[in-house]
Amino acid sequence: MSRLIVVSNRVNPPSGKGEESVGGLAMALAAALREYSGIWFGWSGKTTPEFTGQLNMQRVEGVTVATVDLEEGDYQEYYNGYANKTLWPLFHYRVDLTAYDRSFGEGYDRVNKRFAETLRPLIEPDDIIWVHDYHLIPMARELRRLGVTNRIGFFLHIPWPAHQLVVTLPRHRPLVEAMFHYDVIGFQTEENLQAFEGYVLNEVGGEKTEDGRLRAFGQITEAGAFPIGIDAEDFARITKSPRAMRVYDRMAAHSVFRKMVVGVDRLDYSKGLEERLLGFERFLHDHEEARREVMLLQIAPLSRDEVEAYQDIRHRLDGLIGRINGAYAEMDFTPIRYLNRSYRRDELAGVYRAAKAALVTPLRDGMNLVAKEYVASQNPEDPGVLILSRFAGAARQMKEALIINPNSPEEISDALSRALAMDEAERKRRWEDLMDNVTRQDVTAWRDDFVAALKGDPTVQAANT
Ligand code: UDP
Repeated sequence: MSRLIVVSNRVNPPSGKGEESVGGLAMALAAALREYSGIWFGWSGKTTPEFTGQLNMQRVEGVTVATVDLEEGDYQEYYNGYANKTLWPLFHYRVDLTAYDRSFGEGYDRVNKRFAETLRPLIEPDDIIWVHDYHLIPMARELRRLGVTNRIGFFLHIPWPAHQLVVTLPRHRPLVEAMFHYDVIGFQTEENLQAFEGYVLNEVGGEKTEDGRLRAFGQITEAGAFPIGIDAEDFARITKSPRAMRVYDRMAAHSVFRKMVVGVDRLDYSKGLEERLLGFERFLHDHEEARREVMLLQIAPLSRDEVEAYQDIRHRLDGLIGRINGAYAEMDFTPIRYLNRSYRRDELAGVYRAAKAALVTPLRDGMNLVAKEYVASQNPEDPGVLILSRFAGAARQMKEALIINPNSPEEISDALSRALAMDEAERKRRWEDLMDNVTRQDVTAWRDDFVAALKGDPTVQAANT
């Protein structure tokens, strides 16, 4: 049987203890790696003054983990630079925040080359290789240069943007050309897939083959939509864990006379946090009767805080929350609780379940797993309501959420009052449909579909083209 090699920027296998703090994706990949006796390869998270190429190998809970340290300058150019200051903002439609610094692109290519060279000796002829996310687009090209002929797949966790945005990148062509060294390319949604095809067909004169694959740059690749999910079963289990119950009891006791609305996001400008707060402010302004009754709990752990755009959004949020609380708080009541720390998944599950509604309002998001986790944590007898941005990949599947445009404070405000007034029958009906979707299109289905396509399974190829 062929082994599976997973390549991602950060390597995050479950350690066996404190499992609840590891995400569903890490758990699903680790499970696949155990099944295929595979290897998980990536950056160790550490930097050294000079690159050594030294492989650190460990066995963690039945998974072989292979990591390599990065040189400090590489970290700045590849990770803080090209990944987080160029590709991340551009792919989230923030051309205004995109840095086009040439050294970033050079660092990006250099690190991908170094990763490929370090991984090369571990690859055996029958292995299949699955590369993850925007940090590592050129990995397959670099591996091919080293003579690797194995099947290699790529999954993009973030959006693929519209053609006219991609071409703002000075070296967009080699970036897309690099993608044609993969056998399979996965996107989160049909919309992302179409945007990619649009670029290939209209910008570089590519074409679709008769069997639905894409031909360009003298190569053929198979591109498909593989929407990622959560481990819904495990999330439902976690919701009933002692820690989740304790958090739930605490939050529920606290909101006996009140209604809690929840938001959970990394503090990132793509998440529409300012827009959400403006919508909540509008709601408080328009609904005097709700002012002492409705509370927003916003969990927003800091993220990438070495990058200026993240420091800026943080300052703006501090100001905005201060303004809203200053205007609407009472001596014994504060409408927004804002927490810049991260919580374990079991704690989040308890909070989700206690919340009457969730506000998930990204301006752009590849998928958004918080939306799915909120649904998976609800009490089937008394479920809360999901308010979801049309610009999250999840909105393509979660049609029974209240879908809003986050740029409109009025839409957010109206959705909130509708959610909080919704009768039980409608809440149940909507939740059952959402839960059905979250359960069927879970992380295991996503992983198995992708791996089957990568192995060349014809039935799955047909389903995804
Ligand atoms: N998360 C967490 N603790 C926190 C905040 C978030 O474990 O305090 C998790 C959350 O449960 C979810 C993930 O981080 O699984 C966020 O995924 P999502 O797709 O919503 O956004 P991303 O951060 O990947 O852009």
